Amino acid sequence: MLDATRDSEDRMRQFVADASHELRTPLTTLRGYAELHAGRVEDPDTADALRRIRAEATRMHRLVEDLLTLTSLDRATLHLGPVDVRRLLDDVASDLQVAQPERLVTVETAPGVRLVADEERLTQAVMALGTNALRHTPVTAAVRLTAYATGGEVVVEVSDDGPGIPPEELARVWDRFARVSQGRAGGGTGLGLAIVAGIVTAHGGRYAALSPPQGGVTFRLVLPAGSQAEGP
Ligand code: ADP
Repeated sequence: MLDATRDSEDRMRQFVADASHELRTPLTTLRGYAELHAGRVEDPDTADALRRIRAEATRMHRLVEDLLTLTSLDRATLHLGPVDVRRLLDDVASDLQVAQPERLVTVETAPGVRLVADEERLTQAVMALGTNALRHTPVTAAVRLTAYATGGEVVVEVSDDGPGIPPEELARVWDRFARVSQGRAGGGTGLGLAIVAGIVTAHGGRYAALSPPQGGVTFRLVLPAGSQAEGP
């Protein structure tokens, strides 16, 4: 019975991966044609329609890429190696800061926090949380990236002091296409946190979202430090 369930899950995963893959090429063509003609037409309504086609095709393209990522996440696909967490967080913070220089993004972590992980995937996860923190909070809210090692694990947190997430919606945020009350801001696909959860699970870790009544959200990732956990 368990095997049958796993088998049908694998088939479903493969189907989503194949379908997403097939959608890539026509979407690229669609976007290319819309781009090409948007600058050529004189009629403003037609130009506007072409711009909207291009924007929607771009959004679908992001969705397809996210679906492909989601279907490809498991331990076997990770490229594990030693990761300097301080450096990773500094890199993410400076990328976020370049994207939105007006926002306050800080990193607080002791040097020497290390773990064995897929650096690219972990960066992707922290970046997704940081981008969310910027997208779902007012411009005055600060974003904080922290990490510490404890008992063979490394805890990475992305916090903000924005409005927070109501308790009844907090548990759902990790679901695919979760949409909490304020809607989907800034062109997200609704798969960001599902991908973060997939990355953490593939590493054998845990994740949680905390939002106290006074506001703000902390997304916490707990990852096994692995064999190279010792700092200098
Ligand atoms: P989306 O593409 O909609 O951002 P995600 O899976 O990344 O999809 O996030 C799911 C939902 O969780 C978002 O739509 C948003 O409502 C909520 N959310 C995520 N991060 C935050 C945050 N830092 N503050 C408030 N709400 C958030």
